[in-house]
Amino acid sequence: MKWSNQKPPGLDNIFDRHQRPHAIGGDPVVLVDGAAHLTLANAISDSNAESSGLYVHIPFCPSRCLSCDHLALVEHDGAVIDNYLEVLASEMMLMAQASHTPIKVDRLHIGGGSPNYLEDIQLAKLMASIHSAFEITADAEISMEINPRRTSRAQFELLQGLGIRNLHLEVRDVDSNVQNELGRTQSFSLLEDVYGMARDMNFDSVTMDFLFGLPGQTSSSVKDSVSMIAELAPDVLLCQQYTRRPHQFPHQAAIDEGAMPSLAAKLAIFNSVVVGLENRGYVWVGLNAFVKQGHPLAVAQQNRTLEYNTFGYSAVKSAQTLGAGIGSVSEIEDVVAQNYIDVDAWKIAVQQGHLATQFLVETTEFELARRSVMRSLMCNVSVPVSSLVTPKVAELVDSLESQGYTEREGGFVYLTSLGRLALPHFWSDSSPRFRWL
Ligand code: SF4
Repeated sequence: MKWSNQKPPGLDNIFDRHQRPHAIGGDPVVLVDGAAHLTLANAISDSNAESSGLYVHIPFCPSRCLSCDHLALVEHDGAVIDNYLEVLASEMMLMAQASHTPIKVDRLHIGGGSPNYLEDIQLAKLMASIHSAFEITADAEISMEINPRRTSRAQFELLQGLGIRNLHLEVRDVDSNVQNELGRTQSFSLLEDVYGMARDMNFDSVTMDFLFGLPGQTSSSVKDSVSMIAELAPDVLLCQQYTRRPHQFPHQAAIDEGAMPSLAAKLAIFNSVVVGLENRGYVWVGLNAFVKQGHPLAVAQQNRTLEYNTFGYSAVKSAQTLGAGIGSVSEIEDVVAQNYIDVDAWKIAVQQGHLATQFLVETTEFELARRSVMRSLMCNVSVPVSSLVTPKVAELVDSLESQGYTEREGGFVYLTSLGRLALPHFWSDSSPRFRWL
């Protein structure tokens, strides 16, 4: 099996969207439909879901990291951010009005950008507008992405007061050479302080992200980074692969292409992550998450009930997820809809009084079957043979098997060790734009 030519045999032709955004362009996965907003509004109206997940996107950051592949806007004018929050409040109200009953939210994630770049008053307004539009259940899991360089104890106190109990720290890598290549300085001692503060203040959980395939990374540097992070003991470490895409993110042109690890090196780097974390007692969940023993995600995987949706891995099946803010994705039954990415287009849609949906992800029988099989393999590392009823999907799985990525036993198709190490390179991505839905 040759990986060194940047093209592992077969996989790229099978399930890969490595070079194509899942919902930004590139047929046949995406449909651009002038009435897309009506499709989403009807899906909300027809939904009988008892509760919903809600993702809210706050794109603002104080500066742009060279590696950034998120939907982020550098903004220093508070009035512009205020205006975004006002439109966001209207958008969430439109979602609420599309439903015939109050929408109960049992899982809320505020992502970015750097949501904690907002001023205290803006954070309070944001939470107030979420509560105005939706009924947040008493036991809702509420989390926020945190830029460790922009936080403080006072901010954490505010977040707790606003009901945020789970933090997702944006780390990328703690190696100083890698950070230099990324144009992003975030010392380990700063991360230690922020993490210590979160633990000291009894937040329910702390998740960190770690990227593999960054410029300057080697399997040896990653071994050290993983060891330092594991010492802190976050509840969850999400490991996403990184790809330099200057044609999509022009600022990434400043990253030295020569410093990017080859695909073969990335395979070794990810292996180093797996070995390092498993040796420190972490459980490898799904394709690319590592959790502490006994964590609900580990239990769900063991019970083959782990789910994957627009939030990522979940121990509990979300009947539906709604997305508010630019680029956000909603998923209700078979309807997967993405908001305008362009902030002006998003605002105009909302100001015209309709949902800001730009794209619908295609939901042919084949795409639905493929998504279901992929999610099952991603979450539970297996899929029942009996579920491979769509001939084209069965052919794809046969192809995986013939190349050693899967094998059959006892009525299930399982990922092999090679498959489990290989697929995170194609089905995980540090850029939400390139992640599978
Ligand atoms: S990498 Fe994170 S902190 Fe840096 S610009 Fe992008 S969203 Fe902002």
